[in-house]
Amino acid sequence: MVSTHQADDLNSFLAGVERRNPGEPEFLQAVQEVAMDIIPYIADKPIYKDLMILERMTEPDRIVTFRVVWEDDDGNVRVNRGFRVQQNNAIGPYKGGIRFHPTVNQSVLKFLAFEQVFKNSLTGLPMGGGKGGADFNPKGKSDREVMRFCQAFMTELSKHIGPDTDVPAGDIGVGAREVGYMFGQYKRLMNRFEGVLTGKALEFGGSRIRPEATGYGCVYMMEEMLAHHKESIEGRSCAVSGSGNVATYCAEKLIELGAKVITLSDSAGFIHDPSGITHDKLMWIMELKNKRRGRIEEYVREFGGEYFEGERPWNVPCELAFPCATQNEIDKSDAEKLIKNGCRAIAEGANMPTTPEAIKVIQGKKELLHSPSKAANAGGVAVSGLEMSQNSLRLQWSRDEVDDHLHKIIRGIHDQCVEFGTAADGHVDYFKGANVAGFNKVASAMIAYGVM
Ligand code: GLU
Repeated sequence: MVSTHQADDLNSFLAGVERRNPGEPEFLQAVQEVAMDIIPYIADKPIYKDLMILERMTEPDRIVTFRVVWEDDDGNVRVNRGFRVQQNNAIGPYKGGIRFHPTVNQSVLKFLAFEQVFKNSLTGLPMGGGKGGADFNPKGKSDREVMRFCQAFMTELSKHIGPDTDVPAGDIGVGAREVGYMFGQYKRLMNRFEGVLTGKALEFGGSRIRPEATGYGCVYMMEEMLAHHKESIEGRSCAVSGSGNVATYCAEKLIELGAKVITLSDSAGFIHDPSGITHDKLMWIMELKNKRRGRIEEYVREFGGEYFEGERPWNVPCELAFPCATQNEIDKSDAEKLIKNGCRAIAEGANMPTTPEAIKVIQGKKELLHSPSKAANAGGVAVSGLEMSQNSLRLQWSRDEVDDHLHKIIRGIHDQCVEFGTAADGHVDYFKGANVAGFNKVASAMIAYGVM
């Protein structure tokens, strides 16, 4: 229950964040989602207020912005803007992905870096939070153009990162290919072979299960939520959005566990296959997306089903929903549709895929279980943390070993959500649980360091 006094505290805190960060709606949204839970939590714990812990957490340690100049295949000079937001390193080196997408700007990267601090804390591994990227659009670019861009980007980024300082990885638009080009350039510039990036290929220090980890972790979190309520995934109809790394490996794990995956999407629309996307069909989609870099609509010409141009899958009746595309992809009316169609649970594979208005609608429907991205998609960065451990040990673990660790980490995250998010009536607020548990560890470390 939020008292009037706490509501005043929340409003004045958010007004301050808005004043200090004008024109950054995504960042403000991410802060609001956390502050709504943290301000009531710290109301009777004056040390957090006296030491301005939340104010300090919302101010990045630093942001590096830089020019990225490269040459396209026709010899034209091209200019993009690169960023690295080093948000908080209280519990470990900055850690978080790099996004290449035309929508990248400082607000988007600050929201992602802020989220990353809490997510990384939840994993239990020693990782701080950061995020980087550029407004570069890899779509339609040749392989050589992507290579030249990655090399130019890393030429500046290499001055600000290091295995004990800041360890980037992939995100939207940055996969194994881009990480390979960036790692190669770092190695050439620094003359050091070290674990400075994660998501590397197996041949040069990558971890098994890293490509699968975010999608698998999202399904493991769903399994945990359902098991806590004495239910399971088997036989359930699942709507998944996206068709990148997170979505396809989420679908793969769901199929393996006997669920029926009925949708996938890309930025142009979604496909609905009522007969279920099988393992073979999914392999075809992975080839389409990763090798041919084609559109999801091609699926219906190959396998049937229906394609919906310009729409998202949330109108399709489903029992479990996995938003795995991008931020703000479930709005208020999508949430209402999911509820109307009897959806039982949502696990967020993408970062902040649900708008604040949609979260409110979902929270009003207590039977609908809802795991926030900082818990449900933490599997990716968790295996990145395990990749860092393997690099430090100069070892490579087996698939089973990594999967076992991943399982334990997600179980640990679920336990923390239950510990800090369970109300007197037994209802688990996974948002509150994840926010409070993620906050506690980082805040304790910041208090230990004194005023800085
Ligand atoms: N970009 C991913 C995330 O949002 C992974 C980050 C990483 O592996 O460092 O968590």
